[in-house]
Amino acid sequence: MCISRMLDVIQSALMSPLIVANWKMNPETLSEAKRLFDATKKVVASIRGSTIIVAPPAIFLPTLAAAYRGASIKFAVQHARGELHGSYTGEVSMIQAKNAGATYAIIGHAERRSMGETNDDVRTQVAGALSLGVKAIVCVGEKSRDKIGTHFATIEEQVRVALKDVSKNQFKDVIIAYEPVWAIGAPQPMHPHDIHETTLYIRKVVAEQFDTKPALAMPILYGGSVDDTNALSVLREGTTQGLLVGRASTDATTFTKLLLSIR
Ligand code: PEP
Repeated sequence: MCISRMLDVIQSALMSPLIVANWKMNPETLSEAKRLFDATKKVVASIRGSTIIVAPPAIFLPTLAAAYRGASIKFAVQHARGELHGSYTGEVSMIQAKNAGATYAIIGHAERRSMGETNDDVRTQVAGALSLGVKAIVCVGEKSRDKIGTHFATIEEQVRVALKDVSKNQFKDVIIAYEPVWAIGAPQPMHPHDIHETTLYIRKVVAEQFDTKPALAMPILYGGSVDDTNALSVLREGTTQGLLVGRASTDATTFTKLLLSIR
């Protein structure tokens, strides 16, 4: 595919960005969760073009999803077990997440990996989600960068293993979230030029595994200290198809401003 076609594909994907609100372990009560969701719902009603995916803690997911009557907001589970059945005390299964209203699953988030999740665990979760028709938001990202580019090898390994069991038919339900670990919870995001370079690299790895066309059509999100002041430049200059937002999605005012800034 020629460069101009490639830019067209990227440009068109840019027009309706995917915004994932990862609430992490917030808020503390269901009534606060309802208030935060209502604020998100209100601003989403006034914007067009973005797909908003809210990922509340699993304990709040069924109540929020069951009460929501609209179509503009989708729900994601922040983590679910890859095995669909079995004895796993304390875990939530992908089937339970789906039945609770999740149509997306965040998989392999850096905070889960730091608790011991391996590339193979991520692979199992991706396979579990896709087998149920739940879209997989696969998080990849290096812990640090160096001048010789070791981080590219880390990202390549994460992508390859995560997508190892994905069939060509299932691939349309894969989204990659590039989240450099050092930029999560940091004062500022990665520079958009570096984001752009890394997303091209991810597409190259995926193209080798699945072919160029699907690799170009696959949405790549960026996550890591995105807020209302930088969301637009990360999307435009970073040429990403969306954002995975942590802290800024748990503050109704900031998240509203963020969504309005990318309208
Ligand atoms: C995240 O939770 O994936 C994240 C990117 O967090 P933050 O936006 O707070 O850096």
